[in-house]
Amino acid sequence: MLKRKYLFVTALIILMVAGFTATSLTSYFVARESLSSSISNQMLPLTSDNIYSEIQRDLLRPILISSVMASDTFVRDWAISGEEDAERIIAYLNEIQRQYDTITAFYVSDETRQYYHPSGILRQVSSDDPQDAWYFRVRDMRDDYEINIDTDTADTSRVSIFINYKVQDYDGRYIGATGVGLSVQAVTQLIDTYQERYNRTIYFVDRQGNVTLTGRGYQGPNRLQERENFSLHATQILSSPSISLEITDNAGNHSYLNSRLVPEFNWYLIVEQSNAASEQRLDNTLINNLALSGAIMILVLLAAHFTLRSYQRRLEQMATTDQLTGAANRHLFESIFEHISKSLPRYARPVSLITIDIDHFKLVNDTHGHNAGDMVLQAVATVIKENIRDSDSLCRWGGEEFVLLLDRCTSDEALILAGKIGNAVKNHNVAIGRQTIQVTLSMGVTQYHSGEPLERMIARADAALYEAKESGRDRVVLAN
Ligand code: GH3
Ligand code: MG
Ligand code: MG
Repeated sequence: MLKRKYLFVTALIILMVAGFTATSLTSYFVARESLSSSISNQMLPLTSDNIYSEIQRDLLRPILISSVMASDTFVRDWAISGEEDAERIIAYLNEIQRQYDTITAFYVSDETRQYYHPSGILRQVSSDDPQDAWYFRVRDMRDDYEINIDTDTADTSRVSIFINYKVQDYDGRYIGATGVGLSVQAVTQLIDTYQERYNRTIYFVDRQGNVTLTGRGYQGPNRLQERENFSLHATQILSSPSISLEITDNAGNHSYLNSRLVPEFNWYLIVEQSNAASEQRLDNTLINNLALSGAIMILVLLAAHFTLRSYQRRLEQMATTDQLTGAANRHLFESIFEHISKSLPRYARPVSLITIDIDHFKLVNDTHGHNAGDMVLQAVATVIKENIRDSDSLCRWGGEEFVLLLDRCTSDEALILAGKIGNAVKNHNVAIGRQTIQVTLSMGVTQYHSGEPLERMIARADAALYEAKESGRDRVVLAN
């Protein structure tokens, strides 16, 4: 029985642990999977789209302005006709700067190499001066314009973003370079706003992988290729117009990256997002789920334990006691006797036994019916139990016969107890409908002889009981 119980409980635990862990882990991994796919397939590209359109709006304006300057007939006519009256182009550059709120506007002539600026003619660019390298690059490049981040010729302490636009005469011959400059600070501030608004890391890299513009807090290297374990990713990014990647760093942290080429700049806009926070949330959920499962498991086990225990007790009771009277059955009585008799050699003490038989019980059945007989049997057992100690054992020996085993009790004491029980039963009215029934008992008393078997002691008490019956019933006889 006990073994079966352990088997059942073990099977229950295994089933629950397997079930709970399987469901918790499955939902955990499904959630992680969907988190990662939603970040890399939806959230990040969407953010990238938003940032892209905002950056376009904010940075494309200067490109447009520069393009308008490069195709302005005034600029070209003035340059072609010999750059007379420098004040006119200076006034023009002033007007551009004022109207569009740029930090600088410029025109550099290929003919005279003069650098015109809103404040006047700054200098003459020279191919020998590294500071002027940009000009010769622009002159020789195939594209119409470039974006260049450089120190400002007008103020070398300041780094600016220049839009350098090629100016051509009406026959398509190169005649100079024009454009406007923006402060880098303004653009990095812009990136910062995006970073804060979207909680992402945002930066630009050029076609070679050089990091060109970043917001505050950028901690990566100056080249994509220099990043740890990133050479493959760098190649992927720099060879496709747009790409979404999942990256794992050396510490095992996951993050996601989305890159897209911004053709106007010829730069890649890169948006990165770490999913550490979301993963942490999922981990916490998993831990909570497992804890909850554990708690449910404990509750189920407790419920199973108490249910099993109560069933077990009922089964034991049913197997050892008489249903009608609640007295012990023969089986239980024999094991009680065995237990007592075995302990006797160590603790020498008197044990007595009373056999009890209801007088003329057949008459009760015949007169009042079998149910009434049953009620009398129950009543007699109840009265006997009310008069004995917890250490005494009452057994329904069969029919209307009971046996009472009295531990630590001499035959004299048993005789007195039997008398008391006899009186109590005789004075007890069993109500059957409107009638009441009284019965009497005949009893035989004997004391246990050390080492004798139960049958012998019972036989002796039975003989005394027989004597009680013979001598008129309703009495107690002590065996001799
Ligand atoms: P005596 O005074 O000589 O003991 O007479 P008696 O009628 O009590 O003795 P007898 O042994 O002849 O009758 C016992 C009766 O008890 C017979 C049987 O039908 C009845 N009996 C045995 N078990 C039950 C039971 O569980 N319920 C009821 N109602 N009657 C029972
Ligand atoms: Mg009898
Ligand atoms: Mg009888």
